[in-house]
Amino acid sequence: MSVQSMTTTKTADVEGTLAQVYALAAAGADIVRCTCNEQEAAEGLADIVPRSPVPIVADIHFHHEMALAALEAGVSGLRLNPGNLRKEAEIKQVASEARDRGVPIRVGVNAGSLHPELYKRYGGATAEALVESARIEIAYLADVGFEDVKISVKASSVPLMIAAYRLASETFDHPLHLGVTEAGPPPAGLIKSSAGIGTLLAEGIGDTIRYSLTADPVEEARAGRQLLEYLGLRERRGLDLIACPSCGRAEIDVIGVAREVQQALETRKLPIQVAVMGCVVNGPGEAREADLGIAAGRHRGHLFIKGKIVRVVPEGEMVDALVFEAERIVAEGVEARLAAAEVGAEQEAEADRKALFEAKGSDANRSGEKVELIRKTVHNRE
Ligand code: SF4
Repeated sequence: MSVQSMTTTKTADVEGTLAQVYALAAAGADIVRCTCNEQEAAEGLADIVPRSPVPIVADIHFHHEMALAALEAGVSGLRLNPGNLRKEAEIKQVASEARDRGVPIRVGVNAGSLHPELYKRYGGATAEALVESARIEIAYLADVGFEDVKISVKASSVPLMIAAYRLASETFDHPLHLGVTEAGPPPAGLIKSSAGIGTLLAEGIGDTIRYSLTADPVEEARAGRQLLEYLGLRERRGLDLIACPSCGRAEIDVIGVAREVQQALETRKLPIQVAVMGCVVNGPGEAREADLGIAAGRHRGHLFIKGKIVRVVPEGEMVDALVFEAERIVAEGVEARLAAAEVGAEQEAEADRKALFEAKGSDANRSGEKVELIRKTVHNRE
């Protein structure tokens, strides 16, 4: 499963584009696409491709000669838009050239630039119309013996994109590249992309993904990578921060502490799952699967590893203690750090938990009290 992103620089600007390609690769992109819209862009690709840390795909619209030029530049893949590159002979010429060089092609259908005839025939950019557009293009490619195809059927509407990819996965055996096109700026763009791509991935559909955000493309590479990590489709490379939403039991400013922890651990690039929990009454139990966590109680921080309390520190030191322990776990492993647990930490935490429980009872949000009031109010009206 691969993450793709796209540069926003002019491809002719070799140094600027390469700087962005490196930034995207560092943020999690496995493949980077660059536009090849003019001769200068193709010439830029000739310099970019050999110096890139990841495969470069050329994005082609309208001009088949730009595809031929990109192949000359040595790109690892082409993306052709069947909606605006329509002449059969030209498509076949590109496919023949790509076939001889062993370069794959993505048939990149887009609802917004669907072939006008298909738009008319299907009464709009429907899932069937998007898949039919891909089918026609694949047939052209097959005519010249080209099979190394990847398909995308993107739309900016999440339900339409999901329906189109489901149909595409039933129709074709080729790999699918997933994306919600023109998803917009974050957070809406992130939510749309995660909903569309995540739904399909959970169904086992998709081979490469791209978040199309109106933002620094580094954000889309990072988001794509994180989605795959959160779905368990890629090994964790960075921080996975779990934090409780806070409630009436919270003994600290959970939002503020979580932010502090996130900043501290992200800058250290530690591949670890960490929990920040507002109280020691429920925190360690609820986050027992996390590698490491902190729960607050009675002005103290209770540090736990896999749900077991290993140290109790003053509240003011809890973030530093957490960061220290995260570094040790990454260096020495969970078992070694569990073995290094402070004697008596569990008992201290238990005493804090008990004291808090007694002080706040089992209903810290006073829900029971509120339910009683609701019942009285309703009863009095009857
Ligand atoms: Fe957080 Fe404790 Fe409330 Fe759970 S019970 S949400 S851990 S403060």
